[in-house]
Amino acid sequence: MKSLLERTESGLYCPQGDFFVDPIRPVKRAVISHAHADHARAGCQSYLSSQEGANLLRLRMNQDADFTFLAFGEHLSIGGVSISFHPAGHILGSAQIRLEHRGFVALVTGDYKLEPDPTCTPWTPVRCHHLVTESTFGLPVFHWPEQQSVQHAINSWWRGNRDSGRASILYGYAVGKSQRILAGLDPSIGPIFTHGAVEKGVEAYRRSGIHLPKTTYVSHADPKQDYGGAMIIAVPGAHGSPWLRKFGPKRTAMASGWTMMRGWRRRRSMDQGFVISDHVDWNSLLEAVKQSEAEQIWVDHGYSEVVARYLNEIGYQAVSIDTKHESADTDQELIATLASREGTA
Ligand SMILES: [Zn+2]
Ligand SMILES: [Zn+2]
Repeated sequence: MKSLLERTESGLYCPQGDFFVDPIRPVKRAVISHAHADHARAGCQSYLSSQEGANLLRLRMNQDADFTFLAFGEHLSIGGVSISFHPAGHILGSAQIRLEHRGFVALVTGDYKLEPDPTCTPWTPVRCHHLVTESTFGLPVFHWPEQQSVQHAINSWWRGNRDSGRASILYGYAVGKSQRILAGLDPSIGPIFTHGAVEKGVEAYRRSGIHLPKTTYVSHADPKQDYGGAMIIAVPGAHGSPWLRKFGPKRTAMASGWTMMRGWRRRRSMDQGFVISDHVDWNSLLEAVKQSEAEQIWVDHGYSEVVARYLNEIGYQAVSIDTKHESADTDQELIATLASREGTA
């Protein structure tokens, strides 16, 4: 079947339009699904991305690049290929990239999820002939609990820690997950502090018009600050580091889809796990594939071979195209630790 996309050493390439989609190396012209580092590489000459994610992308990219932003649903033609962005619901500004050329439609999902998230525009189904989907959590064991109950559990955990005079340290990825967690926190429980990487993301979200509870960057807090009862949002890399000492008695927790995996807590010596993911789980992935009505499916990231095999079994034409490039937004270290020890890497 003809398509609009080719696999190259620099990533997905559209020969008709002479541009790359989420290139894995610096290229001349990059069309970007979202601002996470494994999709948005610095060093490209020009970036085309969604308007909603403009502040995040500019925060992370070389400033001398040429940026063009499109509102969701708006079209731009390059070399006869009509490009448009459609909400992916993954993080602020995350988009599925739709390419159309002479009636043929390809769709690259980037990262996406179907659950509601107050910090970004919700995913919408897009029909296409050729679908390129992620499969970070493409195993049947991954099914996300109802998100409101998880947010409720986080607030209860925080309240309990406060009542015993402890700080609550909650780890999430700096851009996307942290802001989604923040949006669900009940600020009446206590003050909220942030790790530097998280605060930068929070600022970009606020500049983009997303309302988030008040936060204080830890380095700007009073050196004598008593953190008993406080919530501190930090990146997973801070776990076990000397940075944590200043918080006194504390409980630690991780917010990630990976916390569904057996034994992760003991290995990471954390007190608690909350299952919150910004990627599709198994059922949502199958639902999205169905709604796309695609004739040809490429599966990338994570468990792409399992997903491609299953899709073929149920009658689709699917292949894994996983290039095994590192996944920056999903905490490489954590995944490597968990996946290798689970024997699923
Ligand atoms: Zn991502
Ligand atoms: Zn990704």
